[in-house]
Amino acid sequence: MNSENTNSSYDVIVAGAGYSGAAVAAMLAAYGRRVLLLDRRERTEIGSHYPRLMLDVDTFSKSGLPRPQGDELLALLDLFYAYSPSGKVRKPIDFSSLMLDGQLFAQRLLDQGEADGVSFRQAEIKGPLLKNDQVVGVTLADGEQILAAVTIDASGNAQALLKEVVAAGLIPALEHSHLESLYGVAYRLSGQTDLGPNELHIHFCLQGGYLWRSAYDIGIGGMGHEAREREEVRKQIEDLQARFGWEIHDLIQEDFGSVPVRHPLGAFVASGFAVLGDAGFMVNSVRGGGVSAGLKGARVLADVLQDALTRQDMSLNSLWAFNVRYQQQLGAQLAYQDVMRQTLMNEPAAEMEFAFEKDLITADDIKGSLAGRLLDFSPIQKIQKGLRGAGHPALLLRLNHKLEWGKHLYEHFRQYPASPDGFPQWQQELSHLLDKVAG
Ligand SMILES: Cc1cc2nc3c(=O)[nH]c(=O)nc-3n(C[C@H](O)[C@H](O)[C@H](O)COP(=O)(O)OP(=O)(O)OC[C@H]3O[C@@H](n4cnc5c(N)ncnc54)[C@H](O)[C@@H]3O)c2cc1C
Repeated sequence: MNSENTNSSYDVIVAGAGYSGAAVAAMLAAYGRRVLLLDRRERTEIGSHYPRLMLDVDTFSKSGLPRPQGDELLALLDLFYAYSPSGKVRKPIDFSSLMLDGQLFAQRLLDQGEADGVSFRQAEIKGPLLKNDQVVGVTLADGEQILAAVTIDASGNAQALLKEVVAAGLIPALEHSHLESLYGVAYRLSGQTDLGPNELHIHFCLQGGYLWRSAYDIGIGGMGHEAREREEVRKQIEDLQARFGWEIHDLIQEDFGSVPVRHPLGAFVASGFAVLGDAGFMVNSVRGGGVSAGLKGARVLADVLQDALTRQDMSLNSLWAFNVRYQQQLGAQLAYQDVMRQTLMNEPAAEMEFAFEKDLITADDIKGSLAGRLLDFSPIQKIQKGLRGAGHPALLLRLNHKLEWGKHLYEHFRQYPASPDGFPQWQQELSHLLDKVAG
């Protein structure tokens, strides 16, 4: 470490001021901790990619943040309609979502943090600062080094710190040999459509993804695909608009980007380090949305770090509580949702049409998958589904196989090991279960 170029020390450095980073910084500052929040973007620009942002009410509530109000809240959507690929079969799903002005929401989080003492600084982060198998801060692109008791990687898909922390062997072995696996794309046109203010329609008209329409936007979540070019996805949405006559006018903005679509990372902490939000694959991959899951992660992490900082123990064992609490509560739900994504979106259009028509996929199944509820059919329901699916036994078998192994995966996350000692075995079993889910 170059001491001449080393800056003063903080309790916590948060790398990335997206929703997860801004939230955890604000929560730690509210506990009275000295927090430095770093982002390459200008402060006023943060959130500008999200003139529209959809969050599920239930997970948002678990973050403990005050509900959006006033100009920030565009609509509260009590239900949505799910459509078969042809659009002929429609199912009402009573599942509540919030539609927000995502920039106002991001700026509220930053304002709240700064009011409690968070220092925001615009800077490009180069990587973690490591010493004696511990993360002790960050190095900026200009070479400046900044020290902290704990450093959080909340840099989204960039994983600006995680990659090096993993390469240094400080996070227990990961289930994937590389971290770039399993990304999809999201594309959104924000403006005005002809739908009513509280309407939301979700069309399973794309293999490996879906299209959504609200009064304020129209977009595609291209899940299960390799990252694709913006032009290709734009053309896909234009073709669907032409086919179904879906208009959007008074365009505000077009946004496109990668979204992780997979189960959460197996472990989020190392000595002096934690990873949060998209950087740790905390995403609801049925929706392709990670904001609510990242906010809930921020709540759990802030509480674990407050405790660890009070005890002055930033060791792997001490921070392990974050893994345990997150994986057992939300991680299990997110892992199960990823199996539901594969179940709902990887079937060809003809099979999906059949599944919708014959009610092999019911409104309750879709609601359950979004809420992360396990689908547990009674023997009578199983027989009823069996009869309805008699014309397509292979499809029924595939759906049942995924749901059955999805349940095992859920239970596995619920039994996350209480200390790092149990992790290698847990991870081995995880790998086995993921193979089973894939069939
Ligand atoms: C088009 C589109 C629409 C979406 N719509 C929704 C939606 O409606 N609802 C929903 O829940 N999710 C949605 N998502 C997903 C959502 O954007 C992410 O899940 C969420 O932003 C993750 O938040 P985060 O704070 O973990 O990471 P991010 O929001 O990605 O924040 C990471 C921050 O780190 C900064 N950073 C990265 N690298 C560096 C570096 N080296 N140095 C300095 N700073 C750095 C970045 O500038 C950024 O500000 C959408 C995604 C896309 C692409």
